[in-house]
Amino acid sequence: MTTPRPRPRLDADNRAFWTGGAEGKLNIHKCGECGQYTHPPKPLCRHCHSENVASEAVAGTGAVDTYTINHQQWMPGLEVPFVIARVRLDGVPGVILTTNIVNCAVDEVAFDDPVRVVFEEQDGIWFPLFEKVR
Ligand SMILES: [Zn+2]
Repeated sequence: MTTPRPRPRLDADNRAFWTGGAEGKLNIHKCGECGQYTHPPKPLCRHCHSENVASEAVAGTGAVDTYTINHQQWMPGLEVPFVIARVRLDGVPGVILTTNIVNCAVDEVAFDDPVRVVFEEQDGIWFPLFEKVR
């Protein structure tokens, strides 16, 4: 069974992020002026306010910054327990994704665990989740 996920509203800015998984790509907005990243995707760089921003595929690896184990079944169909984590992305300073750690038992997740992106597709949205690198 697949856990139903809140569906994001696609727009010109976030489409590459939510659909990049179709090509196996984790796309993050990068500024063409200052070279820094902006997430969630916006039409302006959050650092220098340039409009010269575009999505760019990043490595898709990172490390667990913080995490918590959710035991509460917030909605019908939600499989518990599961891990909610904040993942620091390699090569993408300043960007931390809030995501789930999947494909392992919840008690196998620890701070600073190396992880890599895996995508879960639901109705054309490719949710970036992460699994431990073994
Ligand atoms: Zn910038």
